[in-house]
Amino acid sequence: MINYCFGVDLGGTSIKFGILDINKDELIEKWSIETSKIKTNKDFQQLIENEYKKFSLRYPLKKVIVIGVPGPVNPITNCVDILPNIIWNTYKPKDFSLKDNTKVKIILHNDANLAAFGEYSKRKKLFFSETSLVLVTIGTGLGCGLIMNDEIITGTSGYAGELGHLYIPNNYNFKCKCGNIGCLETICSAQGLRNIINYLYETKLDSSDYKQLINSSVEELFGLANDGHPGASEVIDIFIKTLGIALANICSVINPSIILIGGGISLSFKNFSDKLQQTFKVHAMANVKNTPIKQAILAEQAGIYGACYYENKINL
Ligand SMILES: [Zn+2]
Repeated sequence: MINYCFGVDLGGTSIKFGILDINKDELIEKWSIETSKIKTNKDFQQLIENEYKKFSLRYPLKKVIVIGVPGPVNPITNCVDILPNIIWNTYKPKDFSLKDNTKVKIILHNDANLAAFGEYSKRKKLFFSETSLVLVTIGTGLGCGLIMNDEIITGTSGYAGELGHLYIPNNYNFKCKCGNIGCLETICSAQGLRNIINYLYETKLDSSDYKQLINSSVEELFGLANDGHPGASEVIDIFIKTLGIALANICSVINPSIILIGGGISLSFKNFSDKLQQTFKVHAMANVKNTPIKQAILAEQAGIYGACYYENKINL
């Protein structure tokens, strides 16, 4: 039985690698390479092969690699056709052979889905209590992964869980990068917070409450709101109300055991968790009102853990 999994998490800034020891349930190796150093999808394929071969001399690795990619993966073709933040934009993985002719298979999965699978599998080992989960990752944008009964929900062509593009009625109608107007991500993300601040600064007769916020970081913004700063409180209230409605809607659709909030904004989770839970309760259907909303536990390692756990689940 081979108990070492080799996982990869491709991001816009870095390509993270990790080796999970299944018995210890921990990453025993972690390393990364700047994404900008890789110029083509052929170079990426070569990098994966080289790193795998190098570490296969030190660990008896499973003969499969799972790679998390920041785009929708077609579950039939195992290809990703749109990688918006990556220079080579598309990737079709090729299986390869080792010196002894054993084949190594490469499987792609969306990174938000793998992060959700990582959180789910880790929690299952720790608490044994949940059968389904929604992970909402809020950073520059808003990503989401859905797990039901041990399985990742991908949808027919890989677009399930695009919560960031759910339309929540609002007064602002900011343009989203998907081309639509008023998507959740245009309010509930780091960029969304900027959108609200700029909107209030430009439209309010007395803009003095918002001027200070224009150059503040997300963490500072949540801190100011917590201290009662009127402008920051208004911005964060809009964020919380919109997110609370979206989470209530998703619960009416898939009724998860738990909702987790991850990503950079989750670092401020304690500053907004009570209000978020209250808003969620106001908008959620009676039977799902008590769905817990908690902070994700694996932080930036969720993707790598997810890739390795998923790899361990595959029987070749
Ligand atoms: Zn959108």
